[in-house]
Parts: sequence; C-alpha cells; structure tokens
Amino acid sequence: MDEVIIGIDLGTTQSAVGVMDSGFPILLADEHGRTLVPSAVWFGPDGLVEVGEEALRRAGTDEVHTSIKSLIGRRQGEGDGRLTSGNKVSTEAGELWPEEISAEVLKRLKAIAEMRLETEVNKAVITVPAYFHDGQRAATKRAGELAGLEVVRILSEPTAAALSYGLDRLGEESRVSVFDLGGGTFDVSILEMRDGVFEVVATAGDTKLGGDDFDRALAGWAAERLAVDLAGLESLERVRWLTEARRVKHLLSDQERAVFRVPFTGEVEVTREDFEKLMVGQLDRMESSCRRALLDARVSADALEAVVMVGGSSRIPAVRDRVRRVFGQEPDLSQHPDEAIARGAAIQAGILAGIVREVVLLDVTPLSLGVETMGGLMNVLIARNTTIPCRAGEMFTNAADGQKSMMVRVLQGERELAADNWELGSFEVSFQPGKRGQARVGVEFRIDADGILSVLARDTATGEDTEMTIGSAAVDVSEARVEQMVSESVEFAFQDMNARVFEEARMTAEELLPAVETALAAAAGQLPPEEIAAIEKGRDRVAYAIGQRDATGLKVAVEELDRATEGLAALLVEQATAALFSSPQD
Ligand code: ADP
Ligand code: MG
Repeated sequence: MDEVIIGIDLGTTQSAVGVMDSGFPILLADEHGRTLVPSAVWFGPDGLVEVGEEALRRAGTDEVHTSIKSLIGRRQGEGDGRLTSGNKVSTEAGELWPEEISAEVLKRLKAIAEMRLETEVNKAVITVPAYFHDGQRAATKRAGELAGLEVVRILSEPTAAALSYGLDRLGEESRVSVFDLGGGTFDVSILEMRDGVFEVVATAGDTKLGGDDFDRALAGWAAERLAVDLAGLESLERVRWLTEARRVKHLLSDQERAVFRVPFTGEVEVTREDFEKLMVGQLDRMESSCRRALLDARVSADALEAVVMVGGSSRIPAVRDRVRRVFGQEPDLSQHPDEAIARGAAIQAGILAGIVREVVLLDVTPLSLGVETMGGLMNVLIARNTTIPCRAGEMFTNAADGQKSMMVRVLQGERELAADNWELGSFEVSFQPGKRGQARVGVEFRIDADGILSVLARDTATGEDTEMTIGSAAVDVSEARVEQMVSESVEFAFQDMNARVFEEARMTAEELLPAVETALAAAAGQLPPEEIAAIEKGRDRVAYAIGQRDATGLKVAVEELDRATEGLAALLVEQATAALFSSPQD
C-alpha cells in the first residue's frame, strides 16, 4: 500500500488534519465527530496531557496553554515575552519549548488520522503563515518530528487556501487574493497563476489582529455595562469572560442580538450593531493591510479573479462587508473558513504522495526558460507552457562601468533566484566597454518545431552575434522533474518573493549609497546637523539590512533613506541651478 501523507493546519486557535480520499481532500474527525481541534494543551500531574476541547474545558480552573503558535520559533527578544522565560514556557510538566507544546497538538492529530485511516501515519505536510521566518518554520518542523512525524513539506497557508480553492479553476494569468482572518492573526496575499505556475505577488497582514481582539473588546464592553473591573479579576475568571464573549460573538454572526451572561454577576443584551462599533479600529487596520497588498502587487482590486475568504473570523458579517467594499466585489465564500487550509495541505500531501497528478501539456515548454540578470535573479524569456515553435527576446545592459563582456546563463525553471533553477548552458558575449548601462546586448531564444533551443546574443553596437544551440533539453524534461520544479515553486513561493524583493532593494541600495556619500561630502557644512545625522542613520540602517539579508527591513530602510535625503537632494539641485544661472554674469 502507498504510504499515507497527511495534511495538517496547525492553527493558532484551532487545528485540523486532512487526507486525500478518492481524489477529494477530506478532514478527519475525532471519536466525537469533531474535525476542528482547539490548539490547547493542558499538562496534568504524572505526565498526563490533554489536548483540544478536553484541555479547554479545564480553562476555568487550570492553566491551559493556547496560542502557542505565536511563540514558536521566535528569536530571543521577539514578541512581548508573555508566558516565556527566555523562549521557554513554564508548564506543569516543566519548562518547555513552544514546539514541545505544539507537538502535543500534532500527536493528537496524528492519532486521529491513524484511528480514521486504520494505519500508521508517519509523514505530514504542515502549514505555516506566509510571514513565518526560517526559525519559525524550522521550529514547526521540529514540532512535527517530536510528534513522530516526518514533515515532508512546510506549506504557506495562503498557498494551501489557494490549492483548496482549486488552481484548476483559475484562468491563465489570473490573480486571486486570499484573505485569512483567524483567531490571532490576519493575512492577506495576492497570488498569481502564470502559465500553470503559482506565484505570490504580495503579502501583507497583521500578526496581532484577529478574533481574540473581538473577544476582548466584547468582554470589555460587557464588563463596563455590568460595572465589573475586568483588569481586576483573577486570570481564570477573565478567561470565563472571554469564553462567554466568544460564544456571543459567534451567535452574532447569525443573529441580530444575543445575551451576554456571567453567572452570579448579571447579563446584558448585545446587538450586532453594538458589536460592530467595537470592531471599527480593527476593521480599519485590516483594510489598510488589504490596500497595501494591492499596492505592492500593483493590481487594482477589480483585476482580481476572486477574493477567497478563509479563517474563522471571516464569518463575521461586518468583516465580509468591509472586504466587499475594499475589493469592490463579492468575496468568494465557497471555502469552508476553518477547513480550507487543512484541505489545501491534504492536496499538497496528495501531490507529494503521487496520488494527485498535475497535467503536463505536450508540445509546449514544460518549464520556463530565461537568463540570469543582475542580482542573481531569473529573467524569464519564454514562459512555461508556451506552444512551440516560439521565439522571444530582450535587451540587456552592462552592470558596471568599463565592463567588456557578460555571461549569458541559460536557465530553466520556475524559481525567482537563478541559483534555484537549472542551468542549460552558458556563454560569454563581449561588447564595447562603456559606462554602466550603455551597452546594448539583445538576447533571443528560439525553439524550433523539434524542440531545439538556440540562444543568440547580439552586441547592437557592432552587430556581432554569439550563438549557442542547447538541443532539446528545453522541451525534453521528465514529468517527475517538471512536477518537482513546479511543486517547489509553490512551496517556496513566499521565500522566493522575499528573495526577489531583497535583491531588488539591494540593487537600489547599492546605487543609492555611493550617491549619498558623494552628496554628503559635497554639501558638508550646509545642512543642519540633525539632518546629516538622520541621513547617516538611514545609510547605516540600509547597510545593516543588507548584511542581515532582511528583505522587508531593507525595503523600508531604503524608503527612509530616500526620504531623509530629500533635503540634501533639493539643496544640491538648488546649488546646481544657481551655478547655472550665475555663471554667465561671472
Ligand atoms: P487560527 O487559524 O488562528 O487558528 P481560525 O481560522 O481557526 O484561526 O479562526 C478562529 C477564530 O474564528 C476564533 O477567533 C473564533 O472565535 C472565530 N470564529 C469561528 N467561528 C466564528 C463565527 N461563527 N463568528 C465569528 N467568529 C468566529
Ligand atoms: Mg488559520
């Protein structure tokens, strides 16, 4: 029998496990028929551990560990340090790493799968948020291993949601937005389907925005009405208020009013309108993340084929209304909000297990072809799935002053970084040395009807050609290798996007830094000291972000440096203009 691979959504508030069954992703239910397992762990005496509902039920009387995901893989000093001493969490079972606690949730999911599938399960795909850094991904993987699971892939949640939505439903060149509002976090991504390959164009969000905020706001509101000082309550008592708030919140998604009840304290009626007033601040923050993602992706909302809403909190009518307004279209609610991620993980697991096959078209380029450009990026000339015969060309230039030649590296693959693609061949083209950006070298790819790729490079100044024939490697690729490349492009979609953002920002920075130095020297003594200090600080921050290979940090630092040098730039322009107009009189 084929080895089973399960798909796991390890959520902040709830988790789920799925598997492919006769071609469909299904979720597996525990012995009580529940498919969603609260990500809650209780450690009792004598090594006793309870997970899920059973653990949550103790929340009124005992300490129960929840939202562990927000602590996992955090580097020292990250986050608010709540519950942690160093990065460990103190529990009844001793000081534990967050991944050791998450492992308990994973063990539970593994057991549910084994019970339902009646077989041992040793492999899993686990999803993580798009913004998780390497440390958080590695810690998630460790959690899997501690639970006795080999984690065959870590998958980004928006990608999982998109897989579950059905990539095959998407047309060529189409873009979708995945909107995920869960318990503690909010994510919005814009994904593009390009020639059968999946790309993340932009992602934004808020790691401190979710259903828990609504619970807190509602509990606070009710406490005020009932003249209770929530902050003054014991923590277990406060948990009861939050649990009640959540119950009422859920009711308000389906009905106009509900009663907030606290035993021995009182009750108060809440209308949907009352609740919505409490959410305005969060809805505004959510909206600005959506707008940022659209801006970064350089798409207008109406160009999106669908806005797929997932996450438990996307059930709230006010959230849906806001999404409808921001994107100017009906959101797609076809995905079960708490199940989509686990279903997507199950589909990815199915692909890896070889149960789900991707279709490889014939008489087309199975993978994209391109050349390496500045910053080690892949520049696609012929996209995957282009019908052959075909040809395509692009103009390139020199990256440095006085450069005499450049290397044309012919690449095949779907990854953003040249190094992650396959090199089919390379050759050197020489041209007349000149200033940076002056050379003009045209590169043309041509694939004939037999699938033979030839690459031609021409120095437009001299008309001199260099040509290379690669053979049929461009078209003859085994199905398995194509599948591997395509699934890696999905797996690494977010890392790739970060790598591209970083390289692009680094190139801008490397142009900006020397220009800033020169300008500073030229304008020395003419700028207020605090402005010079700000420029120097910006410059150091840019240099630091380059050293750290921090994509987002670098992008922000470059923008800041750009702003800090506005005065300097204006001063230099002013001087240049003054010099220009005063010279005739001199
Ligand atoms: P996570 O991925 O963070 O684990 P989920 O996507 O599972 O989160 O969503 C959990 C959140 O969804 C919780 O805050 C829960 O209260 C909220 N939620 C679930 N059902 C509803 C509902 N019917 N109305 C409002 N909020 C809901
Ligand atoms: Mg989630």
